[in-house]
Amino acid sequence: MATTGDVRKPDHGARRGHFIFTEEHEALRESIRAFVIKELAPHAEEWEETTFPDWVFRRMGELGFLGLDKPERYGGQGGDPFTSIVLAEELARARSGGMAMGVAVHTDMTMPPILAFGTEEQKQEWLVPAIAGTKILCLGITEPDAGSDVAAIKTRAVAADDGSGEYVINGSKTYITNGHRADAIVLVTKTDPEAGHDGFTLFLVPMDLPGVIREQRLEKLGMHASDTALLAFDDVRVPASAVLGEVGRGFYHIMWELQGERLIGAAGAVAAAQDVFERTLSYALERKAFGRPIGHFQVTRHKFAEMATKIESARQMVYTTAWRHANGEYPVREISMAKLHASRIAVEVADECIQIHGGAGYMKEYGIERVWRDLRLNRIGAGTDEVMLDVIGRSYGL
Ligand SMILES: Cc1cc2nc3c(=O)[nH]c(=O)nc-3n(C[C@H](O)[C@H](O)[C@H](O)COP(=O)(O)OP(=O)(O)OC[C@H]3O[C@@H](n4cnc5c(N)ncnc54)[C@H](O)[C@@H]3O)c2cc1C
Repeated sequence: MATTGDVRKPDHGARRGHFIFTEEHEALRESIRAFVIKELAPHAEEWEETTFPDWVFRRMGELGFLGLDKPERYGGQGGDPFTSIVLAEELARARSGGMAMGVAVHTDMTMPPILAFGTEEQKQEWLVPAIAGTKILCLGITEPDAGSDVAAIKTRAVAADDGSGEYVINGSKTYITNGHRADAIVLVTKTDPEAGHDGFTLFLVPMDLPGVIREQRLEKLGMHASDTALLAFDDVRVPASAVLGEVGRGFYHIMWELQGERLIGAAGAVAAAQDVFERTLSYALERKAFGRPIGHFQVTRHKFAEMATKIESARQMVYTTAWRHANGEYPVREISMAKLHASRIAVEVADECIQIHGGAGYMKEYGIERVWRDLRLNRIGAGTDEVMLDVIGRSYGL
């Protein structure tokens, strides 16, 4: 029989650990957080104007943060996939969505296909310096006339007819994150337009080759700290050794890459939502109206309850899906659900946080409006909400 002493009080202040994270993950989290707060967060405002500088890559490379889940033989830390989630979550604390995205494009979007499909030479030439932070990578899928419909891309790679064994690449890519600063691009091309999904090939292309043209830096609603490029490829000649993975398998390679990208994007969105929630909570306890803190109005209390529930549901989806992915499953449906749900709730939370801040939420100096502008991208990039819904719907045979 329970005695009074056995009655458990709710521990709202608990750390809220999760079974996917060990003590080592928590120690890693502490060290990334200390770095982010001390060395990145103070620059968030400045980087809105200038985009974040390349030293961020070099410094993170020195600290070992760019290859947390990459093999030690390439300079990585040899950690499990959850270490990447820790990184994505902690980078959100810098409050510079553009910086976090630029780093994630490098670590979690462009490195994985090089590691998975690259030759040993490609890994030595690009993966090793990328993990060290001395070379920067970008990923080129989207084109002016093809985004969601990846199969409609027009960039062509044609085997040269001069016996050199080279390929000649022509086309254009747009909205490419890190496109202006990158040393190399993982480029999605068509090598056989008649072969449908079997006609795509990835190339690993140095960005200083003749014919690679970095056109204008694109202006955006948010993510101002990131560099977003329109690129042109004008008779760019690459050797056959620049093929990444198998000729004709590029479509499948990139669809595989997108799964990891979506999961990391979802983790980052949840963390950014949590951060703006916490900031808004402090504000609601301080800001007074009609003689009391605005957080003490029931309507505001319920807004926080709704936001917290949304964040927690998205977080659990991300963690459980990451666990399944890390344990050998390929849960495309659940990754799509996690990406869709996390992106949506993050935008809803940021919007509600603007509302709770009132006029201050609309002012740049509080930085709340920036969270909304930055997070708005998550419903578009790496597959729009509509594309996620279609993947989920089709997974039921519809
Ligand atoms: C800031 C930023 C950074 C980016 N970084 C990169 C990058 O580094 N590399 C890269 O390759 N790309 C990048 N992208 C591109 C991004 O992935 C695409 O914008 C996205 O996939 C959508 O493609 P789209 O813009 O061509 O839109 P479209 O495909 O033209 O879609 C327009 C609208 O139609 C809807 N739609 C399309 N197809 C369907 C369908 N079948 N059913 C229902 N609705 C549909 C879409 O959901 C959307 O609402 C970036 C984009 C932005 C804005």
